[in-house]
Amino acid sequence: MTSGFHSLRECLQLDEQDPLGSLRSLFDLPEGLIYLDGNSLGALPRAAPARLAQAISQEWGQGLIRSWNSAGWFDLPRRVGDKIARLIGAREGEVLAVDSTSVNLYKVLSAALQIARHDAPRRKVVLSERSNFPTDLYIAQSLCQQHEMELRLVDCSEIMQALGDDVAVLMLTHVNYRTGAMHDMTAVNDQAHRCGALCVWDLAHSAGAVELDLHAAQADFAVGCGYKYLNGGPGAPAFLWVHARHSDRFWQPLSGWWGHAQPFAFEPGYQPAQGIGRYQCGTQPMLSLIALDVGVDTVLAAEPLGGMAALRRKSLSLTRLFGQLLQHRLSGHGLSLVSPQDDVQRGSQISLTRAHGAYAIVQALIERGVVGDFRAGDGAEHPDILRFGVCPLYTRYVDIWHAVDALHQVMSSGVWRDAKYGQQHSVT
Ligand SMILES: *Cc1c(COP(=O)(O)O)cnc(C)c1O
Repeated sequence: MTSGFHSLRECLQLDEQDPLGSLRSLFDLPEGLIYLDGNSLGALPRAAPARLAQAISQEWGQGLIRSWNSAGWFDLPRRVGDKIARLIGAREGEVLAVDSTSVNLYKVLSAALQIARHDAPRRKVVLSERSNFPTDLYIAQSLCQQHEMELRLVDCSEIMQALGDDVAVLMLTHVNYRTGAMHDMTAVNDQAHRCGALCVWDLAHSAGAVELDLHAAQADFAVGCGYKYLNGGPGAPAFLWVHARHSDRFWQPLSGWWGHAQPFAFEPGYQPAQGIGRYQCGTQPMLSLIALDVGVDTVLAAEPLGGMAALRRKSLSLTRLFGQLLQHRLSGHGLSLVSPQDDVQRGSQISLTRAHGAYAIVQALIERGVVGDFRAGDGAEHPDILRFGVCPLYTRYVDIWHAVDALHQVMSSGVWRDAKYGQQHSVT
C-alpha cells in the first residue's frame, strides 16, 4: 500500500466514477449506517422480502406439497449450487447449496480421509493452520479421533515445510477470518499434491469477495458460507464442491435419503447418487435457500459489469484506501494494521490490533454508526482484532473515509475509555 492521501471530495469522486456503483441499490441498508460487517452477515438484498413473501404465500400457502415439483424446490440446492459455481471457478453440476459450513466440512473432510486411507494408508496426519476458524479445527479434531489420525496445527509460515510424507489431507481456510491474509491456492495445492496430500479449502471469506478458480488451482474439495459475502441471510445454507475425480469414490458419512440415487424409490438400502448428488443428506430449509438464491443473484448482477474480477478490483482499492487513510490519520494511537499490505495476499477486509481496548473501540464505533466487529485474540501471538469487512457490492469510498474519520474521533477524544463500552455481549 503506497501512501497517498484521499480527501472526502476525492472519495465522492471515486464513487461517482465507480462502474459498480449502481449495485448498491440492490440492497436495503439502514439510512446513515456504515456497514463493514458483510464478512460476518451480508446485507439484506432489496428483492429478498418480496421474493420470500411470494414463496410463503404462493409456493407454500397455495402450492403446498406440489411446490416440491412446480416451484422447483427439490432441485434448488443444485440450481443455487450452479450459480455459486460461476463465482468460484467450478462447473455446472459440481456444487450444492446445502446444510451449514461446519456440516459440509464434515462431509468433504470425511470423504478426503477415506480416499487418503485407501490410496496412502500410511499417511496419518491432517494438517491445518493454528489460526484457522475454530469450527474447522473442531470438526477435523472429531474426524481425526474417528479415523485414528492426528490433527497437526502449524503457523501459516510453516505450512509448506510441514507438508511431509505423513500428511494425508491439508485443510485450510483460503482467507483468514481474523487477519484477512489470503493463501496462494494454486501454489499450496501444487505443493500438497507433490507431497501426496489432498487439499480441502474453506472459502467462507472468499466466495463473493475474491476471484476464485478451483479448477485452475487444481483444488480437491471446497466448502463455503452463504450468509457472508453471498448475502443469503442469517443462517443461510452453505455450499460444497468436490472435484469430479473424487466425487464417486466413497460415500460421505451423512448418507441421508436426499443423497440416494433414487430418493423416491424408498428402498431400504442406501445407493449413493453419482456425482455431487450424494453430498446431500436430507430435506433442506426452502425459505432460507430461496433467500440465498436472491443473495447469490446480487453477486451475479456484477457479471455484465466485469464480474468477480471487477468486484475484486474495487475491493482492493477500498481496502488500499482504508490502509492509506489509517496511515495518514491514525498514527500514534497504538493501532496497527495486521492485514497484509500486499494486494495479492489480502482478502476483502481490514484488521487492526491494539494492545488494549479493541472491544471498547469497536463498541464506540458501532454507537457512531460504523459497524465492524471484534475478534478475541489468544495472547501475544494472536492479539485482539478490530475487523472491518469490505463488501464491494455495497461499500462506497466515502464509507471508508467516514469509518476512518469516526475511528479518528473515537481515538483522539479517548471516548472509548468510557466503561459502558467495555461490557462484552454474548455475540461479538
Ligand atoms: C463463518 C465461518 C464458518 C461458519 O460455520 P457455520 O457452520 O456456518 O457456523 C466456518 N468456517 C469459517 C472459516 C468461517 O469463516
